[in-house]
Amino acid sequence: MDTINIVVLGAGVSGHTAAMFCKRYLGERVNVTVISPEAQYNWIPSNIWVGVNRMEAKDVLLTLAPVYDKQNISFIQAKATELYPEGKNGSIRGVVAYEDTGNNEGRKSEIEYDFLVNATGPKLNFQATPGLGPDGFSLSVCTASHATEAANHLAKVIDEMKQGHIRTLAVGMGHGTCTCEGAAFEYVFNVDTELRRAGVRDKAELIYITNEAELGDFGVDGIQLDVSGFITPSKLMADSLFDEKKIKTILGAHVERVEEGKVFYTDLEGKKSSIDFDFAMLLPPFKGHRLTTYNKSGEEITDKVFTPNDFMRVDADYTVKPYEDWKAKDWPRHYQNPLYKNVFAVGIAFAPPHQISKPRMNPDGVLIAPAPPRTGMPSAVMGKVVAENIAQQIKTGILGNKTASMSDLGAACIASMGTGFKMGSAVSITMCPIVPNYEKYPETGRDTKNTFGEIGMAGHWVKKILHYMFIYKAKAKPFWWIIPE
Ligand SMILES: Cc1cc2nc3c(=O)[nH]c(=O)nc-3n(C[C@H](O)[C@H](O)[C@H](O)COP(=O)(O)OP(=O)(O)OC[C@H]3O[C@@H](n4cnc5c(N)ncnc54)[C@H](O)[C@@H]3O)c2cc1C
Repeated sequence: MDTINIVVLGAGVSGHTAAMFCKRYLGERVNVTVISPEAQYNWIPSNIWVGVNRMEAKDVLLTLAPVYDKQNISFIQAKATELYPEGKNGSIRGVVAYEDTGNNEGRKSEIEYDFLVNATGPKLNFQATPGLGPDGFSLSVCTASHATEAANHLAKVIDEMKQGHIRTLAVGMGHGTCTCEGAAFEYVFNVDTELRRAGVRDKAELIYITNEAELGDFGVDGIQLDVSGFITPSKLMADSLFDEKKIKTILGAHVERVEEGKVFYTDLEGKKSSIDFDFAMLLPPFKGHRLTTYNKSGEEITDKVFTPNDFMRVDADYTVKPYEDWKAKDWPRHYQNPLYKNVFAVGIAFAPPHQISKPRMNPDGVLIAPAPPRTGMPSAVMGKVVAENIAQQIKTGILGNKTASMSDLGAACIASMGTGFKMGSAVSITMCPIVPNYEKYPETGRDTKNTFGEIGMAGHWVKKILHYMFIYKAKAKPFWWIIPE
């Protein structure tokens, strides 16, 4: 019998984890191949520090090929483009078509798989908002190079403020349906810290513009936190932080377009306004990476495998229902495609059943609703769990039954508020589960014993240590698997 082929699409947090654990659990029984368009892995959470000139791009990137060589994993620098889950040209194995993005740029090839893990992460959908993004008039920190560009612009406006000019800096979400509010939150506080460090805070108007209806929503419908024994809504914590740092906030906003030095937005009441800016870092909404999919007759079936926003369908309940009827069991447990049982999607690539925060529409019918975040910890856990289940199937013939539902999983989030030996600080939040489960925890949807928050320097140092630990793990250094996801 041919060796079993496991193909992993994407070498980010979830794909890299899935590939490394598949090889660790199964060794020579399997060929593991990772297909990913970039030669380097990016530890994305630390892009925030690149974006304020406190780290360089090289500190958050690592070259994948030597890591995969060491692990006996094949690496193809390419982007997947098409999927043939029922095989192609007589092959009974699934097939992925891909296009080289490395030395043979543009060359098209195919690979057969027995198991496929789709971990292609987000497509940064700057096009959703005219003028948004580095090709338009605003900046981003989503990739290391975007963050470097943001850092250079920030340094320039700081210089101008040092010369006595007043400057307006806008940070936040570039569309009403963005996710990753936590990242924008971190960036605005890091910018605040840098302005203070440079002695120019009094020359800056710092504005946070977000699609959240209230601060502290974070796309998870807010969190009731145990703070030193007191149950405190994340809204209260966030309100007080923004207030203390004198950061102006614009809530429930949908950015309609960005022009040179001006961002136009509408809000939940339907009011239209604009901000004149000298510096704007606005995150894009995310889509998935749609792979054109064909059945064995050659008919296109992409819509059966991917949702309209291009995420891959898995074992979630996609029935459309109102917020009041959402249940914990809507969320996927195994990340298995319902049509093709040897195909899985993890991390940002899987299609969530619905938002977590209450979706809202303004009087003009504009949806202003944070999309569900899939942060690093759950993304990596999903990658590991899928690897364990595939390994079990290969060893015993029965798919493993490990689960990683976001309505069971907890997540630890440390939101940096500034870096540096003396000025480092962070908001550390642990929530369990990520998706509120009101059947299990009727009062707050979460286990209050395991949902807590703290602000201070300790969180900053933990975040800094985690940066080095996760890079160590991604490099597959000795005992990498001991480091938790
Ligand atoms: C600025 C920022 C800060 C963040 N900070 C934090 C934080 O502090 N804590 C936290 O927990 N989370 C944070 N996150 C979220 C975290 O980065 C994500 O949870 C995580 O990266 C998701 O992992 P993933 O594997 O799904 O996607 P990614 O890590 O984005 O990986 C996707 C991979 O797929 C590849 N790919 C894309 N297209 C294709 C294709 N067609 N074929 C093959 N491969 C493809 C990509 O090149 C990439 O290698 C942050 C996100 C951002 C944007």
